[in-house]
Amino acid sequence: MDGYHPLLNDPATLSRFPLILTLDTHGIPHRWISWQHACYYHAKNQVAWSMGKHAFTVHGGINRMTGERSVISGSSIIAIKGKAMAMKSFNQVPPLNNRELFHRDRQICAYCATSFSGARLTRDHIVPFSKGGRDTWMNVVTACRACNERKSDRTPEGARMELVYLPYVPNRAEYLILTNRRILADQMEFLAQHVPAQSRLHQQP
Ligand SMILES: [Zn+2]
Repeated sequence: MDGYHPLLNDPATLSRFPLILTLDTHGIPHRWISWQHACYYHAKNQVAWSMGKHAFTVHGGINRMTGERSVISGSSIIAIKGKAMAMKSFNQVPPLNNRELFHRDRQICAYCATSFSGARLTRDHIVPFSKGGRDTWMNVVTACRACNERKSDRTPEGARMELVYLPYVPNRAEYLILTNRRILADQMEFLAQHVPAQSRLHQQP
């Protein structure tokens, strides 16, 4: 894609280079890709259909035969042909990372219910490793350093510390929301429809 540069239609998005949301042909959210990657799919005629309000246009090189400049227009949400396997990955448990964990828990300590910046938070294993606990979404919560130290190598019961909220496994759509901090309004609207009702994301104001 050498020589390509973005001329995004929406000036507000020009400086931000928002990621493009891909779906499979059933409309199931798949993953985030760069606009360059989206151009690749468009050029290879692999885009089944597209939706979303935000669009971008990139201008390529001049065709020596016709003298015309090549243009690729894309949308903020595109369905990729031959991605039916996305259904399988949709149901897969997403990888556990602190950043996404803290976002799942809205940066609130599960023990003192106080809100902290990411740098002051830790991953607490509800059942500690030493007691057979595992490093999974269902056994971890966000905790501030003070609470994590106080709880130490004990279960909440053993430490007489009560959880103010419960852990859960985010689904694919929620995970996509947790991993991208610059989601366009139409992309968020689409993803939110696939997030289970019990998700904490729906509690956000
Ligand atoms: Zn705390």
